[in-house]
Amino acid sequence: MRPRLHSLIFVLMALGVVVGLLLAQVEDKSSDGFTTTIQWLDFFGKTVFIGLLKMIIAPLILASIVAGVTSIPSFRDAGRIGFRTLGYYIGTTTLAVAIGLILVLMIQPGERGAAESMRAKRSAELTARRAEFAEQTGKQADEARPEYLGWLEQREGEGRGDKYTRVVAKRDRTTFEMFVDDIVKPMIDNPFHALGARNSLGIIFFALLLALACAALGAPAQPVVDFFQAMNLVVLKITSWLMAISPFAVFCLMASIIATHGPEVFESLGWYCGTVIGGIAIHVCVLLTLCAVFGRLSPWRFLRGIREAWAVAFATRSSAATLPVTVRCVTEKLGVSKKVANFTLPVGATVNMDGTALYEGVAVIFLIQMYGGMDDVGITLVGGAILILFITAVLASVGAAAVPDAGLVTMVLVATAVHLPVYYLPFIFAVDAFLDMFRTSTNVMGDAIGAVVVDRFENGGASPPAAPEAAPQADPSA
Ligand code: ASP
Repeated sequence: MRPRLHSLIFVLMALGVVVGLLLAQVEDKSSDGFTTTIQWLDFFGKTVFIGLLKMIIAPLILASIVAGVTSIPSFRDAGRIGFRTLGYYIGTTTLAVAIGLILVLMIQPGERGAAESMRAKRSAELTARRAEFAEQTGKQADEARPEYLGWLEQREGEGRGDKYTRVVAKRDRTTFEMFVDDIVKPMIDNPFHALGARNSLGIIFFALLLALACAALGAPAQPVVDFFQAMNLVVLKITSWLMAISPFAVFCLMASIIATHGPEVFESLGWYCGTVIGGIAIHVCVLLTLCAVFGRLSPWRFLRGIREAWAVAFATRSSAATLPVTVRCVTEKLGVSKKVANFTLPVGATVNMDGTALYEGVAVIFLIQMYGGMDDVGITLVGGAILILFITAVLASVGAAAVPDAGLVTMVLVATAVHLPVYYLPFIFAVDAFLDMFRTSTNVMGDAIGAVVVDRFENGGASPPAAPEAAPQADPSA
């Protein structure tokens, strides 16, 4: 049954791409037939499948962290696992940004392909805007430059749609304000509210406190520990049931996304997409090397064990929605102990996003290469600006929620840090969903390799069991 599920996911994923490409040929995208087809694909893929996965995220995070931390023998061990996990996350995220920046500076996607025509189009647009400004205010753009730039920002924002509104809503905040609003406040949220709102940081923080309090109390808190250990198994059981419909859901998600976004990608922003995907491919090779060297697990065996989670991440574009599947693959197929997986994976899904970090840096540099020197983009890529980009890309990836398009929203932090007007971000909206598939599956892979590496260090270097498929599936004491 199991091997057939893996194959089925990939076969239906490919079928979804084919159907999506066929649908993308439909000329009238507003026709009843097209919209009804997309509606049904989205209903099965997004509403039902992603909805079901989201249903169990909050109980899963709470139960798995409490179960994981309470199965660690001592506070010292818990601290050590925490530090190792953090060290891995910081190291690999930094590496991802560095790979992305080196690649984008070498390839210069903003100087290639359709760049010339896109720049010419933008230039003509700006000339028209200047004329519009002069007509409305009676002033020349060059003479009233600050006023013109303010006017331009407003004008460019008009009719940009929902994504742009979400991006702009995150602007005008200092890094400190972002730290307080996006990290500290959600962390100390009311736990019942955090569970209801699927606020991962709030759930993680409360689960850690709960687990530490249980450990400090010992025997009197044992019923609480037993409850969460059992709850954790129950949630994983539900996940295995959900996986039965995953091939069909993956088909629907792929078909819908390709039908609505497909061909544009290759026509206009090919070099940019190629740079992001190339960077991600290099980073994945580095991660697989870490997995082999420090995790003592061959890349082939790792890829075989993680493929279900990879496919679900690729199709759902959400690390959080994939979390139940990631936990299942890592514990059942890669032989990682539950005490490590239960702690590292929920935390990783929330803060460790290598694919997102790499993408943020590449995207902003691409836009600067493309539009730098225009009337309203007076930025040059000197060392200082690149350093700022580096730091903000790491922060933006930590602050991004584990949901579709989140990286695009937090990119505003990176763009504003180097003074790139935010209304340039919509220039890459068309291909964002496509790239989100690659960055989300990389995020999930990074979390899984983190769990393998930390687990191996905890076991003093021992390799995971030889036949991970046969590893015990429901051992609460593991
Ligand atoms: N969709 C990504 C994730 O869930 C976040 C992003 O948009 O980069 O991991």
